[in-house]
Amino acid sequence: MGTKKSASLLKRASALIPGGVNSPVRAFKAVGGGPLFISRAKGSKIFDADNNPYIDYIGSWGPMILGHAHPKVLSALKKAIDKGTSFGAPTELELTLAEETIKAFPSMDMVRFVSSGTEAAMSAIRLARAFTKRDDIIKFEGCYHGHADSLLVKAGSGAATFGVPDSPGVPADFAKHTFNAVYNDLDSVRALFEQNPASVACVIVEGAPGNMGVVTPREGFLPGLAELCKQFGGLLIMDEVMSGFRLCYGGAQKVYNVVPDITCLGKIIGGGLPVGAFGGKRQIMEMLSPSGPVYQAGTLSGNPVAMTAGIETLKELRKKGAYEKLLQTTETLCHGIEEIAERRSIPCHVARAGSMLTVFFTERHVENYTDAKTSNLKRFSQYFTRMLKNRIYLPPSQFEALFVSMAHTKKDVSDTLAAVDRSFKGL
Ligand SMILES: *Cc1c(COP(=O)(O)O)cnc(C)c1O
Repeated sequence: MGTKKSASLLKRASALIPGGVNSPVRAFKAVGGGPLFISRAKGSKIFDADNNPYIDYIGSWGPMILGHAHPKVLSALKKAIDKGTSFGAPTELELTLAEETIKAFPSMDMVRFVSSGTEAAMSAIRLARAFTKRDDIIKFEGCYHGHADSLLVKAGSGAATFGVPDSPGVPADFAKHTFNAVYNDLDSVRALFEQNPASVACVIVEGAPGNMGVVTPREGFLPGLAELCKQFGGLLIMDEVMSGFRLCYGGAQKVYNVVPDITCLGKIIGGGLPVGAFGGKRQIMEMLSPSGPVYQAGTLSGNPVAMTAGIETLKELRKKGAYEKLLQTTETLCHGIEEIAERRSIPCHVARAGSMLTVFFTERHVENYTDAKTSNLKRFSQYFTRMLKNRIYLPPSQFEALFVSMAHTKKDVSDTLAAVDRSFKGL
């Protein structure tokens, strides 16, 4: 398997773009070796610059739930592009996607579209601060909500992978308003509220975290957060940028039966184009400019091409049985890995939430970031490298989720499990 073209592109890229990439985890730094440059993708497969095919479990980090280059999405996009690509004015497409989003998330009365998950989370926090007239926020260690300043304090995803959960460049004056609690530990949240009874504007939490690897909420954890927020007068922001249309049509709030004040969306809602969204109760959302005083804007927000990709993707997801097959595929994969790990005596914990999963190389049942960090990173990196040689494209970090798509076939799963078996041998 030659990857000469990727190597030579990386050399060129390194002189032009910091680290050669436009988002840090893409660089494969945590696992060694350079990144593959991708030339095209179709269904469950992705092809590198040397035309090697791989079974893809990154799925653009979540959005590609239908698989790559889905024919319905592509044909709608081609029609949309012919009409012009951006107007900077309202279109009916925004209303269609807004209606579908609100239908899927009954906790939202209104929604606003932005161009990324980062913008959604950043704007949701601004709104919560304005609504409550309070400054402090509570987040969880290992959760990731994009790269806004207040949120890069003990953050997950790339920040966790590179050991810079507290980024330089974030003024201490900002960071002091961010409190960190322990995921799945309501007492840690209650303690922060009690120490700061009148200053916490909101608790922001991932629906089902995927940015410290996959971690599932304990029974009662999310509803418990909603109760604490009510008790102390803060808002609950559920960041469902990853989990939104991933666990089911309606996200973690539907699965775990919790009604947040504000919800953030991204990834799948843009079907592979840049879209984010945040929405919630009317009384809160109407504080946004121009109906209210809280400023928020975007030149490309609600872009007609991006809206089209979102609308078509959601349409496919609403088809009967769409999620059943996806969840079945994921379950087969997880059980297969567990069975191989047992046979090969590799201590690991296969965490799964809907159609995302992480194989943690630890004996612990991972319930929070401290547990996740007990993983054997050297073993992960060896595993990753062997899987890549077997043409399976995994997220290049222990602290990320694998994303299964509707395009993954039974053969993809059995090929993947055969590669896992070979990779676990003598690991
Ligand atoms: C990916 C992600 C974000 C950031 O979204 P971007 O589109 O990368 O800015 C925020 N929150 C969660 C939970 C995410 O998974």
